[in-house]
Amino acid sequence: MALVVYNTLSKSKEEFIPINNGKVDMFVCGLTPYDDAHLGHAKTFIGFAFVVRWLRHKGFKVKYVQNITDIEDKIIARAHERNMDPFELERYYEQRFFEDMAALGIKDDVDVYPRSHDYIDAIRGQIQLLLDKGYAYPLDGDVYYNVVKFRDYTKLSGMKLDELEKHRIEPKEGKVNVYDFALWKASKPGEPMWEIKLKVDGKELTLTGRPGWHIEDTAMTHEIFGPRYDLHGGANELIFPHHTNEIAQAEAAYDVSPFVKYWLHSGVLNVDNAKMSKSLKNFVTIREALKGFDAEVLKLFTASTHYRKELNYREALMGEARQRLNYLYAAFSIFYNMHEVQESKDDAEIVKAADTLSEEFSAAMDDDFNTPLALSRLTVAINQLRAFAEEHNEIGSKAKSRMVAAVLEAAAIFGILGHDTYKTSIPMEADRLIKERERLRKNKKFEESDRIRDKLKSEYGILLEDTELGTAWYREGV
Ligand SMILES: [Zn+2]
Repeated sequence: MALVVYNTLSKSKEEFIPINNGKVDMFVCGLTPYDDAHLGHAKTFIGFAFVVRWLRHKGFKVKYVQNITDIEDKIIARAHERNMDPFELERYYEQRFFEDMAALGIKDDVDVYPRSHDYIDAIRGQIQLLLDKGYAYPLDGDVYYNVVKFRDYTKLSGMKLDELEKHRIEPKEGKVNVYDFALWKASKPGEPMWEIKLKVDGKELTLTGRPGWHIEDTAMTHEIFGPRYDLHGGANELIFPHHTNEIAQAEAAYDVSPFVKYWLHSGVLNVDNAKMSKSLKNFVTIREALKGFDAEVLKLFTASTHYRKELNYREALMGEARQRLNYLYAAFSIFYNMHEVQESKDDAEIVKAADTLSEEFSAAMDDDFNTPLALSRLTVAINQLRAFAEEHNEIGSKAKSRMVAAVLEAAAIFGILGHDTYKTSIPMEADRLIKERERLRKNKKFEESDRIRDKLKSEYGILLEDTELGTAWYREGV
């Protein structure tokens, strides 16, 4: 079935057709490592992991590049505060970022993590092209991009040029337009610097400094993919100025339009309905969060909201996500551990349910990666399996493997059900007690049901959790 994606450039859903048949070049703006990565980063990178997994699942050969911005004002400022070398600081946090991505199980979805400082030559070349074509001009050791020269400057953001006056993010005396942005910045003593030689009006100009943020990305992608590529992703706060400036640079330098065919932007993460910030003390790093729960909980939580929407992080919501995950494990385990025979009379029902799950899951993901819908399809299917297991004594092995494959294939897109705890069944007596307790709870006999809960814990090491979907169980220490 055709995949449809929402393209920020056209502000509409479009069928996804890569430039080269079957091959997808994908770039997502990565981390500027000057501090530990936080839950906002987790939302973005988990969201694009779902995207790349689905593209690969559909058979596209994807090259996924996520850059590391290792030259940037924030790194230099933080390094100065701590009396450290900027690169030492950057490497420290970069290493910790990779540990975080590995802990989330999404590090290897990315093929290449290029660093800006390896692309100084390419950056120089791109600045030279922009000077040659009259889009750039030097000013006191800096080089600026003349925004007014590029006709389509606001096409991604949809803003009006005069609205940009408000965003004087790079104030500097002598710029042609207030909103012109830096391609190259002269560096101050103590800052990392490179020497580049440029030609302006036939004269050689030697500049000592460092690249502007936006050109790092377009120089890099031009080196890796060439002048055009398929998919550029990032948080939606990057639409202006970062991605707007990327378009101005690449499309002017290489006379291509659009240089990226599909622009995908993800919504922000809030904490308790407020923007996450250090001053509000609601700043949660990935490693802090993962002390409280398994990475699968965070992935399920992320999947429960569409990537383009805002995601609100709250302790209580994480508790619900954990319950939901435990329930999926418990319910799937009951089916997985059914008595297996060669063939059984109701096998067809399971084969049909497996087909339905695969179809409905695909339809949801093909609609602009609708993960909340896809996740609910998976939940409904696992619920049905639990009911089936409770009503039947046996299952044919072919039907069972078909269903197990369908469930695990869907779960793998979200990186859940990756622990093999579902493979071990619980003792029959414990299973009987769980059902007995559910019956007692329905009849509001809470004292007796609590006694059974204690017995399951002390005798079998089984913990129970009553979720909206039903009772989930899990083993102590798992
Ligand atoms: Zn970027």
